Amino acid sequence: MTKRMAIAGGGLGGLTLARILRQHGVDAVVYEREANRSARSQGGMLDLHPESGQHALAEAGLESRFQSQARPEGEEHRILDPAGRMLIHHVPKPGSFSGRPEIDRTVLRDMLLDSLPADTVVWGRRLSTAAPRPGGGWHLTFHDGHRADCDVLVGADGARSVVRPLLADVELSYVSTHASLSIADVDRRHPELAELVGPGNLWCVGVNQLLAAQRLGDGSLRVGASLRAGDRPADTLASKRALLEMFDGWDPRVTALIEAGDGVPIPRRNEATPVDMRWETRPGITLIGDAAHLMAPVGEGANQAMLDAAELAASLAADPADPDAAIRAYEEAMFARIHPIAEMSTRIQAMMLSDTAAEDLVRFFTPRSAEPAPADRSGDVGASA
Ligand SMILES: Cc1cc2nc3c(=O)[nH]c(=O)nc-3n(C[C@H](O)[C@H](O)[C@H](O)COP(=O)(O)OP(=O)(O)OC[C@H]3O[C@@H](n4cnc5c(N)ncnc54)[C@H](O)[C@@H]3O)c2cc1C
Repeated sequence: MTKRMAIAGGGLGGLTLARILRQHGVDAVVYEREANRSARSQGGMLDLHPESGQHALAEAGLESRFQSQARPEGEEHRILDPAGRMLIHHVPKPGSFSGRPEIDRTVLRDMLLDSLPADTVVWGRRLSTAAPRPGGGWHLTFHDGHRADCDVLVGADGARSVVRPLLADVELSYVSTHASLSIADVDRRHPELAELVGPGNLWCVGVNQLLAAQRLGDGSLRVGASLRAGDRPADTLASKRALLEMFDGWDPRVTALIEAGDGVPIPRRNEATPVDMRWETRPGITLIGDAAHLMAPVGEGANQAMLDAAELAASLAADPADPDAAIRAYEEAMFARIHPIAEMSTRIQAMMLSDTAAEDLVRFFTPRSAEPAPADRSGDVGASA
């Protein structure tokens, strides 16, 4: 009998899973809490890594669409100190897809949505509870009162997953504070800021705090201020004046990124699950992406969410009659893969917000003979704007 697959959450992980399952002839339904695809801004750019995000897109049959929409030039990055001195300036080879080309999150999500039949995603369905059914499978209830049944439930519902507690009892830890701003139409309105940031990422690194900016494909800049967890409550960063005070004494060419922001900064606490999080396999249910492993935002989360989707889809397609064996195989491989990546993400986040961040970053990006070249490492710190 065909198993009914339900995916809670239509972010990058859930949509990639639905698409790759479909490539294998398996239909799934995605329940997404947002009302439609443009209900919420999807944020800045992502660099997709060949072994994870790009691999998943190839499994999804979307490699060439990715190549036509991605921005390899977005890999350019500049690291400045608070006085505005350039410490590192990396320029990728023109048109190269060998590294980690950047793509706007909205463009990537639209590409995945457009690859699915219109009825795959049920919009406006916020999952409230999932209860085991006596004969196996799950009974789902949604905020709007709708109900549905499924045989297999995949929690792809992000940082505050409601599916996660059915498998793991974990507390999130607070890893950093972030406030973001946007500047639209930067070439026309603020050509000096367009010049400062260039086609990719800029990080201006101080003591225990940094100011970053990235250029998006729509001609806007996304600006982000980051500081250590607990240094200041996130809600005190909800004004440009507070951010300007935080970066008082920094080169005015850099703090102009805050002054030029459209609207008020949006502050947020970044959180993480324990780096060694795992759970006992349970029949007919699993997690992918941030629901399974929420990490400090240093450039791995979306890539790993998409790789989870590719690996889970391959495992389910290899043995459609026994989804529980497929889930067990997926989870074991995922736990082993994620543990070192989660540890690395915690380390890099701490390094970027340390009192020696500038020296540490210069060392990080300076190639040593046995290590990857800087171009291969740029994504490791690419998440801060
Ligand atoms: C500032 C910042 C920058 C980042 N930069 C990078 C980067 O450069 N590279 C990178 O790889 N990663 C980056 N990340 C991490 C990345 O954003 C996440 O790891 C990735 O989005 C996880 O994908 P996901 O599909 O698991 O979850 P999400 O993208 O969060 O998607 C979850 C979806 O589930 C929906 N949902 C939630 N609850 C429910 C519910 N109850 N019912 C139904 N639907 C629900 C949500 O609306 C959402 O659409 C960054 C994160 C942050 C915070």
